Amino acid sequence: MPSDTVFKVAAIPGDGIGVDITEAAKEVLNKLAQCDGTFRFDFTTFDWSSKAYLERGWYMPEDAIATLKKHDAIYFGAVGWPSVPDHISLWNMILPIRKELNQYVNVRPTRILPGTKSPLVGCQKDPKQLDWIIVRENSEGEYAGQGGTTHGHENYAVATELAIFSYVGIERIMRFAFETAKQRPRKKLTMVTKSNAQRHGMVLWDKVFYTVAKEYEGVVEFDKMLVDAMTVRMVNRPDSLDVIVATNLHADILSDLAAALAGSIGIAPSSNLDPSRKYPSMFEPIHGSAPDIAGKGIANPLGAFWSAAEMVRWLGAGKLDAQADTLMQAIENVTVAGVKTRDLGGDRGTQEVTKAVLDQVERLI
Ligand code: ATP
Ligand code: MG
Repeated sequence: MPSDTVFKVAAIPGDGIGVDITEAAKEVLNKLAQCDGTFRFDFTTFDWSSKAYLERGWYMPEDAIATLKKHDAIYFGAVGWPSVPDHISLWNMILPIRKELNQYVNVRPTRILPGTKSPLVGCQKDPKQLDWIIVRENSEGEYAGQGGTTHGHENYAVATELAIFSYVGIERIMRFAFETAKQRPRKKLTMVTKSNAQRHGMVLWDKVFYTVAKEYEGVVEFDKMLVDAMTVRMVNRPDSLDVIVATNLHADILSDLAAALAGSIGIAPSSNLDPSRKYPSMFEPIHGSAPDIAGKGIANPLGAFWSAAEMVRWLGAGKLDAQADTLMQAIENVTVAGVKTRDLGGDRGTQEVTKAVLDQVERLI
């Protein structure tokens, strides 16, 4: 990396704990860059949130997407507040960003951090049993936003929600999933579907999977699971899974389950990627704005830090892997030392955990 490399990052803290953890993540990223000395971040923070929407009536300005395109990456906290229906916040912020910036892949790694405890007894004995990457289709499927509602008497309303699957959309996510599996030591891919009950989109999903799979015979081991049976397998045989590919809705649900099985939703990261790199990719913890703990200073910032590490890896495109690994090591040193928030069974606050990670980054570089 040339030593004067500057990454322009759009930071969108959003609502609730999104604000605290984004602030903490910026601190950690700046510390990493400062200690490393070969790159730095130029953050621009945007106040796009449900809170702002309630005051001014809009989430993002008209030129939001054009503005985001001028950045190298987007760092997102969380959006949503109880006084605004969730579908309004999602469809005014996160979903348009994902769709318009071609972020058709959502990568969600899950593993048990050292010093933390899975609720699964088998994984308490051997944490290595749970080490997955969920690849979520991020642009179509059940979140295509197509459908409608009749406006009769409310008790007679009829609503449709269309799930839209295109060959191109399925093929590109399958290819990404196979490539991800190919780069992992175990080289396994499990495709999730519901093609026993849904006989159009899900059948196409299966068909494209097996077509792409032909190119990976002998290289990647692959199998297919129905989503209901998959939840059982994740709990009963976590070690039989490696990379998982699923639709927008299925992967959304499975990744919350995965995070809980790994110890807490507060540690889980995600990357919304435009694999072509034409547009900025977006990095965010998988959790929401957590209104129940907002403002209490107890949110776990580790999912935000892990997402930050993934952002560094993506921005470096192979040249900042060591720095991303350092950040992950700093996180793990902190969990091993028992500096943990309540969701992980500890008693520390967001700021104490952040301070501990900052100290570790400084120590490690
Ligand atoms: P979204 O709709 O955006 O996915 P959600 O309604 O599913 O959000 P979250 O905001 O993720 O819900 O919160 C779910 C539960 O997990 C809440 O009890 C919340 O307090 C807890 N939680 C979420 N994130 C964290 C965190 N970083 N640290 C500690 N607890 C968290
Ligand atoms: Mg959720």
